[in-house]
Formats: sequence, structure tokens, C-alpha cells
Amino acid sequence: MKVGRLGPAGAVVLEERDEPRAGPGEVTVRLAACGICGTDLEKLRGNYRSAGILGHEPVGRIAAVGSGVGGLAEGDRVFVHHHVPCLACEVCRRGDTTFCPTYSTTNLDPGGFADVFRASAEHVARGAVLPLDRAIDWRAGALLEPAGCALTALRRVGLADRASVLVLGLGPVGLLYARLARSLGASWVGGTELSELRRRAAERGGIDAAVDPREPKALETMVARATDGRGVDLAVAASGHPSVVRAATEAVRRGGTVNLFGLPEAGSRLDADLQQLYLRGVRVVPSYATTEPEIREVHEMIVGGRLAVADLVSHDLPLAEIAEAFRLAARPDASVKVLVTGAAFAG
Ligand SMILES: [Zn+2]
Ligand SMILES: [Zn+2]
Repeated sequence: MKVGRLGPAGAVVLEERDEPRAGPGEVTVRLAACGICGTDLEKLRGNYRSAGILGHEPVGRIAAVGSGVGGLAEGDRVFVHHHVPCLACEVCRRGDTTFCPTYSTTNLDPGGFADVFRASAEHVARGAVLPLDRAIDWRAGALLEPAGCALTALRRVGLADRASVLVLGLGPVGLLYARLARSLGASWVGGTELSELRRRAAERGGIDAAVDPREPKALETMVARATDGRGVDLAVAASGHPSVVRAATEAVRRGGTVNLFGLPEAGSRLDADLQQLYLRGVRVVPSYATTEPEIREVHEMIVGGRLAVADLVSHDLPLAEIAEAFRLAARPDASVKVLVTGAAFAG
């Protein structure tokens, strides 16, 4: 079978290897689709830890079920979550499950960009293999993981009723965040985004206003108008760039919250007026990744018509064209969400 892997010099390469087999407690899944995440692009740029594993948003059909697996059968349509917490350590017991030391060491074999991949017995036992409702097509299913990340973040910051929310960076996950905030009762949702294509996608999803941050005073004017000059309740840095984080700290109201949501580059530093953060009582809350309860919840929201996601997919390319798919995903002016597809995509 074919596998898309991190190759030398920041390239994604297709490798030939044997199909994984389902051992006791495990399942294997034939790929339908797997989204390209911003963190996959960062791995290519060398900015993010990686064991060469790419692709963590896969959906597909169960190819084989190992002995002792209950409730899953060959042919089932499923989403598979790549990381699972241990649910037993001190970090997990405090509820910070995505920061569990075990969490980021668990992985799909060999990753989501493969004709067939294997979910371990831990994945299966801890509910990381989620059967998809009939109402969830492959495109929507491939957005469950990033939508789950946005929901986990909103739970960590604690979205207040009728809150005003600013999302800085309306890439696929920023767009999902904005839509979720709206669905969960935000009174105003605004955003900033360099790409015109992505600003237009934001407007389709019921965002109130999206501006180009390069336009002088556009952000300040939008926020001042929406909040009577107070600043937003929640500013989401959906890009980890220090300038974006700084803009978030400046757009938030006194006592408001900045959500550090996009992955910052390794070694980058907080660039903010610390006295202002202190005197204005701004909370900075990081949020990383997601777990099964939030993924199940966004699954239910999509089924119930409370969250639209599938229209954010701008491109789907077969695994054989993964290099081109990555080139497209790295171009915000040309794409929103790009999926890599496998044999199960057609059926
Ligand atoms: Zn992701
Ligand atoms: Zn743990």
C-alpha cells in the first residue's frame, strides 16, 4: 500500500509498505479521507515535533477487526482519533486530558495518509474509533477532529452567554471555531484573515465581520464598533504568530480572555505589554488538541444541524497526489480545507 510520509528536506513523499494487520483488540481502517492540518504543514517546515507521522483527521471503513473487539464490524464507517489519553494519571484526573504525557505518544500506524491504517487496542478501548452517523458524509467526518479542537478550546476558556468573540486567523480551524462560537450562543463573532477566499468562507458561515489585518485600523475599528469601545470578551489567536497573539491581547476587554489556540513556532516568545496584561486582568489560556467527549459532541451538533462543516472543504485529492494536496493546503489564497482521499471515498 501507499503511505504519505515526511521525507527529507521538508517534502512529503509517498512510500510503499505492507498493509498493517489488526492484532487482538485492534482494528484496521481503509482510508476514505484525511484532512491536511496546519500542524502537518508545520511538521514539513520543521517547526513541530514529529516521528515522521502525518495525517491525524482520518475517516474510512473498517477493513478488519481483531479478536476481542466488540461493537465494530468490517465495513463500518468510522472516524478515528489519533491520540488517546491514559485517563488514569494525575494530569488526566484533573481534567487536562490533552496534556496527558501518554496522549501525544499514542498514534495511528502509520498515520492518516495511508491506504490502510491501524488503530491500537488503546485507541479502540478508549473510544477513539467513532462510528459515523449516516448524516455525516466523508467531508464532514474529516472535519470532526479540528472541530473537536475548537470545542475543547471553547470549553477550556468557558464561553460566557452572549459573549463577543474575535478569531484572529480564519484558516479551516479558525473558521470552525467561529462557527462553533456562534452556535454556542456568542452574540458577535468577528475575525481577521489575510486571504480573501477564506474571508468569504467566513461570511458564508454567519460570521458578523471579517477584515484584512493589513488594512490600517480595520481591526480596531471593527472591534470598537461591535463592543462600544470595550474590547471583545474572547480573542482567539488561531495563528500562533507572536504578532497575532499580541493583537489578541490588545483586542480583548478588561478581564477578558485570550485563547492561545494556533500552534506557535518553537522558541517564539510572548510579545505583549505585560503591564497592560496585568492591569487589564487579561487571562491567557492555551488550548491544545481534543479528546473523545468533545469529538462526540461536535458529531452530534453536525447530525442535529447545529454546525455546518462540510462546505469548508475546498479540495479533495487522491493519496497519489498528496504532494500537490500539500502545496494547495499551504496556499491560503487558493484553498480552505484540503483533504487527501483513499479508496473508500467513493463508496
Ligand atoms: Zn489537526
Ligand atoms: Zn493521563
